Amino acid sequence: MPESATKLPSKILELMDGFRASKALFVASKLKMFDHLKNKGPLKAVDIANEVGTSVCGTERLLDACAALGLLEKTPQGYSNTDSTNTYLTSDGEYSLHGYIIHSNDHLWPLFTFLESAVKEGSRQNHRAFGKKAEDLFKDYYHSQEVKQRFMAAMHSIAHLTARGVATAFDLSRFKSACDLGGCTGALAHELVKIYPNLSVTVFDLPEVIANTSYFQPSAEHTAPVTFVSGDFFKDNLPEADLYILSRVLHDWPDEKIHVLLSKISAVCKPGSALLVAESVLDEQKTCPPTAVLQSLSMTEGKQRSGSEYKQLLEKYGFTNVQIKITENLLDVVLCFKALSP
Ligand code: SAM
Repeated sequence: MPESATKLPSKILELMDGFRASKALFVASKLKMFDHLKNKGPLKAVDIANEVGTSVCGTERLLDACAALGLLEKTPQGYSNTDSTNTYLTSDGEYSLHGYIIHSNDHLWPLFTFLESAVKEGSRQNHRAFGKKAEDLFKDYYHSQEVKQRFMAAMHSIAHLTARGVATAFDLSRFKSACDLGGCTGALAHELVKIYPNLSVTVFDLPEVIANTSYFQPSAEHTAPVTFVSGDFFKDNLPEADLYILSRVLHDWPDEKIHVLLSKISAVCKPGSALLVAESVLDEQKTCPPTAVLQSLSMTEGKQRSGSEYKQLLEKYGFTNVQIKITENLLDVVLCFKALSP
């Protein structure tokens, strides 16, 4: 027996249990157990079970699992949220990840059940998980109001969490107007106008999305207005701006679609104007950061790219001075400028 075999392989054992931990988090979130515990003293399992309408024994096991995972504190008086749970896991927490967790449970979990087929076939498994094959990713999300709302809430929760880091990775104060292409609920746009009061920001997204953005707007007295414009960035004219933004857009599309989109942005961008790309940038070996590598397993037609691949891609469409900020904060940021005419 090798010496290493006398020490338990803790990393592997942890990974073997990873699915149980994820599902415990998803179900406690879906049943809004963290919401029930917010701002209340310690509660017993029976109280939570009565409020949520679940069995006492099942609730107790789930709450114990959440305590074991560090999501709850357990004392003889009962269970309470940790500070981090109040902030990130309650549905109205300041940086709530509830929307993304529900998307993970209802959409990604069924998809990942078919990972083996996805790997064998090299394609997304929507038809197996949900019984249909849509022409593109977003047609799947926008076919029903319920799924659209869930997807937008998921995008909003991550965008709200990462917006400040993206908006401040570079000093953008020289720009007067920005257009966030595929800007969804406007979470990044609102952060930009807060940080750069002289910047006017337009969010450009599909009509189905723009029709649904009012639900996600911050209260009017806290932020300057953002303009929402509906359209298809592959087909329609893009609003004029001196800074274009693509946040979590490029990784979704195959090369042919990226060619159309970047050609259009490059054509409308005046020399000296800029393009800001927010993505999780892979290291050159393409094994880090793990969240981006694992996201690739969804098998969309797009792909995650390394820093040198983004540089090469953007230069191909006439952008220069490509600068990359690795934030180690879910989204890295790439800024580049439309080359001045010779
Ligand atoms: N930028 C947001 C963020 O970082 O959270 C949302 C990213 S989400 C992965 C991609 C966005 O692109 C969605 O809001 C989607 O509706 C939008 N989108 C997809 N296809 C589009 C198209 N053809 N024209 C305009 N927007 C599109």
